[in-house]
Amino acid sequence: MMGVPEVVVVSSDGMRSLVVVGGQWGDEGKGKVVDLIAGAFDAVARYNGGHNAGHTVRYGERRFALHLVPSGIVHDGTLCVLGAGMVVDPEALVAEIGHLAEQGVSVEGRLLVSERATLLLPTHRALDLARERARGQGRIGTTGRGIGPAYQDLASRRALRAFLLTDPGRLAERARALMAEHNRELESLHGAEAVDLGRAVEAVVAAARELAPMVGDVGKALLRTHGEGGRILFEGAQGILLDVFHGTYPFVTSSSCLPGLAAVSCGVPPRMVGPVLGVMKAYTTRVGGGPFPTELEDAVGERLRERGAEFGTTTGRPRRCGWFDAVAARYAVRVAGIDALALTKLDVLDGLDEVQVAVAYEDGQGRRLDVPPGDSEAFERLRPVYETFPGWSGSSAGATDEVDLPEGAVAYVRQLERLLGVPVVLVSTGPRRRETILRGDGPVGRFLRRIVGSPD
Ligand code: GDP
Repeated sequence: MMGVPEVVVVSSDGMRSLVVVGGQWGDEGKGKVVDLIAGAFDAVARYNGGHNAGHTVRYGERRFALHLVPSGIVHDGTLCVLGAGMVVDPEALVAEIGHLAEQGVSVEGRLLVSERATLLLPTHRALDLARERARGQGRIGTTGRGIGPAYQDLASRRALRAFLLTDPGRLAERARALMAEHNRELESLHGAEAVDLGRAVEAVVAAARELAPMVGDVGKALLRTHGEGGRILFEGAQGILLDVFHGTYPFVTSSSCLPGLAAVSCGVPPRMVGPVLGVMKAYTTRVGGGPFPTELEDAVGERLRERGAEFGTTTGRPRRCGWFDAVAARYAVRVAGIDALALTKLDVLDGLDEVQVAVAYEDGQGRRLDVPPGDSEAFERLRPVYETFPGWSGSSAGATDEVDLPEGAVAYVRQLERLLGVPVVLVSTGPRRRETILRGDGPVGRFLRRIVGSPD
């Protein structure tokens, strides 16, 4: 019998594990950061969400659009796992594996899906779209991929879990029964068209035949990696302010994005989940509805959107853009236990006369708040209290060393460190890997300097 495993988070050879999370409302540029460091890890684990997440990973000349599979998959020999806290669309996963294979990346023996992960079915997608339509003005802005309804079934204790992928007979029976229930809701509550059950069951079972060998006990595999001295990267999807508990509920995703979920989802001891690297943009964006006190609906907002290419990767929807919100960011640092920050897209602020940062909120009756309220309707009414910093005329774009940054840009980074109380250990100055500055001496900063070789 296996005893309680010995867990070493920081050892003489550096960190043994690290969690990377988005610190805002998603789209912070986690893809680039994870891409830079993933090669130094022996295992990479996704722990929340489903194929609503994702980014494009460049590896050599090849580009991979990944939504479910952790980006570590492009590095030979890296074990990639999907935790129990995820919702997995079997068809989407098979398509992604096919996309990887077309470009010469085999997942064989390296991709493991938790047998306890929730299965996302074709009817979940139909329900997501129908429910979002029914919300009208109050819509959440979901990606319409069925993530919310799948998590709802998990909480209702009627979800199908991934171990069924290894038992096609039972899977077909259970999937048909659950999708029939979904169809009743689609037709009677939403007046929507029912999903063709025969075809849907067939598609799920066909995907199951391909995925069956990849289903197993994720925690056991990660503990083995750890026991052999390997490093593990936990990759969070979305962002802390979209967390179902601590985000701007109800304008949130349906799972927890907090690093604590990494242990829960992967079934490993919490102490095995290492320091937390938060990724934040040098300004703020959000997609869909919900509070956003620093939103700019003027020419500056438009400029951030254009320069930052702030349009949804799958939907093409323009993102809402605004100044950096240090109140929301400080809250994210607290609830996620962010130890160090990667600040991305600093170059997007180049050339502005001044740069503003929200340092508090004001409620219109003279009251100041220094934390976001739990009540999102009250949050919607708050106004930002800004500190204004001088802009910079030089260019930070492409800088690879702090000495190459305009003075104003360095001052801005230091102001954010002061306001958030955590070191900025990585500054991203462009989309390419080499357009990166490593700085700071904390443990995470030192670790990054050791593992990030010469990018590009
Ligand atoms: P993610 O899902 O968190 O990776 O975020 P996105 O899907 O929004 O990806 C960020 C986008 O910004 C990608 O197209 C990146 O290539 C790009 N990007 C990342 N870092 C930087 C940066 O420092 N500067 C600029 N200009 N673009 C960046």
